[in-house]
Amino acid sequence: MAKIGINIKGGTLEKPDAVVGIDLGTTNSLIAVVGENGEAKVLGKSNDVIVPSIVHFDESGTAIVGNTAKLALIHNPETTIYSVKRLLGRSYKDIAKHAAFFTYRIIDDNEEQMVRVLVNDKYYTPIELSAIILSELKRKAEDALQAQVSKAVITVPAYFNDNQRQATRDAGKLAGLDVLRIVNEPTAASLAYGFGLDPNHQKTIAVYDLGGGTFDVSVLRIEAGIFEVLSTNGDTSLGGDDVDRGIVDHWLQSLNIDPESLSRNQFSELRLLAEQAKISVSSGNPFSGSFENNNILVALNFDETTLNQIVNPILDKTLVCVKKALLDAGVQASEIDEVVLVGGSTRLPQVSAQLKSIFKASQINNSLDPDEVVALGAAIEADVLAGNRRDILLLDVTPLSLGIETGGGLMDVIIPRNSKIPCSAAREYTTSVDGQVNMSIAIFQGERELVAENRKLVSFELRGIPAMPAGFPKVKIKFLLDADGILRVSAEELRSGVKQEIEVKPQYGLSDDIVESMLIDSLTNAQTDLELRALIEAKTEGRQLIYTAERFISKNSQMLSAAETMESQKLIQALNEKIASGSRDEILAGIDTLNEYTKPFAERLMDIAIGAALKGTTII
Ligand code: ADP
Ligand code: MG
Repeated sequence: MAKIGINIKGGTLEKPDAVVGIDLGTTNSLIAVVGENGEAKVLGKSNDVIVPSIVHFDESGTAIVGNTAKLALIHNPETTIYSVKRLLGRSYKDIAKHAAFFTYRIIDDNEEQMVRVLVNDKYYTPIELSAIILSELKRKAEDALQAQVSKAVITVPAYFNDNQRQATRDAGKLAGLDVLRIVNEPTAASLAYGFGLDPNHQKTIAVYDLGGGTFDVSVLRIEAGIFEVLSTNGDTSLGGDDVDRGIVDHWLQSLNIDPESLSRNQFSELRLLAEQAKISVSSGNPFSGSFENNNILVALNFDETTLNQIVNPILDKTLVCVKKALLDAGVQASEIDEVVLVGGSTRLPQVSAQLKSIFKASQINNSLDPDEVVALGAAIEADVLAGNRRDILLLDVTPLSLGIETGGGLMDVIIPRNSKIPCSAAREYTTSVDGQVNMSIAIFQGERELVAENRKLVSFELRGIPAMPAGFPKVKIKFLLDADGILRVSAEELRSGVKQEIEVKPQYGLSDDIVESMLIDSLTNAQTDLELRALIEAKTEGRQLIYTAERFISKNSQMLSAAETMESQKLIQALNEKIASGSRDEILAGIDTLNEYTKPFAERLMDIAIGAALKGTTII
């Protein structure tokens, strides 16, 4: 229950700390909250909701954020920092290719280290600059809510790596925010649309996000509160800015102005006018403006036909990415339940029009404001994490499967990849040899069928199992993965109660890159892995049957005729040969024959032990 305090000085009731959602965008940022009515809403005065992600440092070194800073781009490009998200969590080496894009100074003295920006003799890291934007958003929210804001969910693109996510988290901390979670932008967008909030719904969606300078498309599968990113694609230098540039070029050409003759400030001014023209025309209003060049005021006009000419080649590129994303996700366009439009540039009417070459009109969903949708979803996630919605559980998923080694070096998955965490799962195993008192349990992470190809996390021994015939002990191995991704494994022999427990941290030292390459490996090798697994399983089953049959014959020789013993041994011998060099089918045929032949003996004896031994999975 939320606590309400009383402000001693004013005697007023103090509201509990608000938990907000933040869309920290490359071009624009927004902050949102779930109100008392349970609805998410963006915060700020009506014309001031969208905060350009721009920081301008004035002469005294004071930081100004947002629309005022955007205007400073015209006259003070060196002290006005835009697109800082492109630098977040990156080294100079990472961004060197795009260095020319920035009009402010980026320091390249150490290519491997995180980049820094130089403004008026002061160095800033992208984390600090992002924190300045986040502080402005926090202040805006505190103003609107008249309450302290201390906890937040911040969104990042789905393709952000660990460094970039960590840097975003650090920026939040620096701004005085307790970052509850970093959430993927497409996940937030789908939450805003309400997808994933009903645990019984299953959907496959595509999120098409065309912003100011970046385009990305993600295909998500949503099921039982879990958001699985099936694929992402995009272009980190494609967006509304390209349209603005195209408009400037069009004006210069049609007015016969030599670009070389213009100052940098004039260029910046034209860019801003171009953006206004674009927004005006795409909203169905004609545009007319003016621009001063060589003391002459020239009229600037713009219409829909020209806009579409500029926009279409840009959208063509996005469609190529969409097709690739569908291919990578392994889904057909027709299998997508909803195509959600995100980002200011999806207001261009051509976006929906062009998407209709891939999807049906009924699949395209743009009913929410494309500027707000990510922030709104972040607010919903924040609300869930704050515990205000008991009915929903939004979950992280484990990126790789967790399991143990079983006979023949096979991976037996106990918690599959993409399981929501926290979670637990257990399986029962048994021994393979009579009188086995120790069982070694090795824990692996990965998608391959053979443990040798996966990553070993730890191994331990369950000791002190009372001596019993093979197949009798019932060893329950339980995996518990907590919300922080820490795995606890326990092994218990159920008949005797002998128990052992161990804690492992599976995420430790595994970068996103490694996880990705492990997944790719498992996909490329899936077919051969499966065949190999089937062969090993057949061999293990065959050996187990031979062990059981031999033990049965030696223990119960008085019950069998000499001919029966002979025939059994012949079949055992044949099966042994097949295990040594036969195919899976031959081994399985050998197992069937031996099984068929010896089954009546077992029935004769009603020896349940054999049944048990044949059923249980053995570890070694
Ligand atoms: P980001 O996610 O990169 O921060 P946004 O989603 O805020 O970007 O999108 C910003 C882009 O959207 C800018 O290029 C802006 O000009 C463009 N935009 C905003 N409104 C419109 C509109 N009505 N028509 C066309 N483009 C628009
Ligand atoms: Mg965005």
